[in-house]
Amino acid sequence: MTKAAQSYPRVFIVSGPSASGKSTLVKRLLQLPGMLFSVSCTTRPPRPDDNQGIDWYTFISPEEFERMIERDEFLEYARVFGKHWYGTPRKWLDAAQKKGSDLVLEIDVQGAVQVKGKIPDATSIFIIPPSKQELEGRLRARGTDSNEEIVRRLARARQEMESYKGYDYVVVNDDLERAGREVQAIALATRCSRAQNDERIRQILDSFGG
Ligand code: 5GP
Repeated sequence: MTKAAQSYPRVFIVSGPSASGKSTLVKRLLQLPGMLFSVSCTTRPPRPDDNQGIDWYTFISPEEFERMIERDEFLEYARVFGKHWYGTPRKWLDAAQKKGSDLVLEIDVQGAVQVKGKIPDATSIFIIPPSKQELEGRLRARGTDSNEEIVRRLARARQEMESYKGYDYVVVNDDLERAGREVQAIALATRCSRAQNDERIRQILDSFGG
């Protein structure tokens, strides 16, 4: 039996190394009207800095995560940093579709590859910190990691940043205000792109008849 072609809401993927300012820039994206945030499920324990005005995660047990995989409830999922599991529940696609909103995913590189495989029209944005010194400064200022952990995070950030090549857009976060305007501009330009508006324009033309 052939499956009816599935239609998706417009999807924005935001990735970048930790402390690149990704979450703040996601919030800027969510300030635009018609944006819905996809709340990921994770098996990692909550951190004190997790809830900053937005529910970033639903915290679940590894058993529940496993059950969700079996029930095919994830659009994508991955083990991040070889430690905890993170996944995007499919239900957010339906929620965005019903609301007529765009969906914002803050996920890692592995997840981005999976989403692009399923939704090739998804727009991906990679956030780059301005320099190693700046990233190190931000990690130290957080005061949540040991020196050893900071060294590990910096090495991982270097490795992660190589993935920027697979993304549609890159934003260097050296100035939060400018970077915020850039992510918003990317979203607005995408909303106006010809390729994403063919159907709408066709309907307008049809209304003219002929
Ligand atoms: P943290 O634990 O520091 O909040 O996030 C660790 C990493 O997991 C970040 O790179 C973040 O983008 C990524 N992440 C968060 N949610 C998801 C998700 O649903 N899927 C994937 N693949 N990665 C995620």
